[in-house]
Amino acid sequence: MLNIQFSARYEKWDDYAEPLRKAFLENGLNVKLAQDLPPDEVDYIIYAPNGPVTDFTPYTKLKAVLNLWAGVEDVVGNETLTVPLCRMVDNGLSEGMTEWVTGHVLRHHLGMDTHIHGQDGVWRAGRVPPLARDRPIGILGLGALGQACGKALRMLNFPVSGWSRSEKNIHDITCHFGDDGLRAVLATSQTLVLLLPLTDATTHILNAETISLMPRGAVIINPGRGPLIDDDALLNALASGQISRATLDVFATEPLPPEHPYWAHPNVTVTPHIASETRVDTAAQVIADNVKRGENGEPFAHVVDRTAGY
Ligand code: NAP
Repeated sequence: MLNIQFSARYEKWDDYAEPLRKAFLENGLNVKLAQDLPPDEVDYIIYAPNGPVTDFTPYTKLKAVLNLWAGVEDVVGNETLTVPLCRMVDNGLSEGMTEWVTGHVLRHHLGMDTHIHGQDGVWRAGRVPPLARDRPIGILGLGALGQACGKALRMLNFPVSGWSRSEKNIHDITCHFGDDGLRAVLATSQTLVLLLPLTDATTHILNAETISLMPRGAVIINPGRGPLIDDDALLNALASGQISRATLDVFATEPLPPEHPYWAHPNVTVTPHIASETRVDTAAQVIADNVKRGENGEPFAHVVDRTAGY
């Protein structure tokens, strides 16, 4: 019998308990799943950074921590955590992100706001957007989510280039890495999508200097993490017209304070960290599969590189 503790706050126990039990059963795992097991008996923790566990020291039998979120910046530096930390890679999460990113890219590409907000009797004809093939898109971060979004945007015929830490070769996406690679992606991105994890190396990756490398009037879409962007630099770039519009889902402080200038900015859309969520049924399968791997002596999937920070 394996003891698995569920430690999360927003991810509701009532939503997760049955799908997890079902997934464990389907994988032939005999599991006691609960929210309040004696720490020294726990084999695995299903975890979200908002949950009650902050000190892993009492969990002396622990084999792995299975994160319910893709982002791990709130736990990766926890020195009491000495067992593998696995992040969430979930098809449901990727599909949700693809839909959100594609929707916001198309909104700006087609200039939809003109007509959605222009229901005032004025016939605004004659504004034809370029075809997608003539609107290059850049994606910073070519991981699970960046690749899924890149593929969907390619299917719509946008030229897509992307940037990652390691060298990559992805069909139909122009891949870059390293400092020169970042400059190359920025130079062509009329729309830039941020899907990097938050680490020391990615904090303020978009700043006054990097924003100045983008084509004038570019659009920024950030469903990654707030501190990827230097907010003052973005506000200045919006004021000068270097950046024409931004859709921001994530912020340095969440909830975004009501007095923050982003809320009132006519060219900024704020969404409340809803770009994509882990989906219960698919995530339960991912977690059960990872526990099974551990019990079979196989390497865990999606293990966080604690040195790289993601
Ligand atoms: P992932 O699979 O770990 O991919 C991360 C990508 O970023 C990889 O391509 C990685 O390069 C690249 N990267 C990391 N550090 C870099 C650096 N210093 N320079 C260049 N590239 C770097 O992560 P994911 O699952 O796609 O998720 C990405 C992020 O999305 C999460 O960390 C989270 O912050 C955010 N997210 C937001 C929401 C939301 O609702 N807003 C939901 C889920 C996730 P390599 O490929 O070379 O490793």
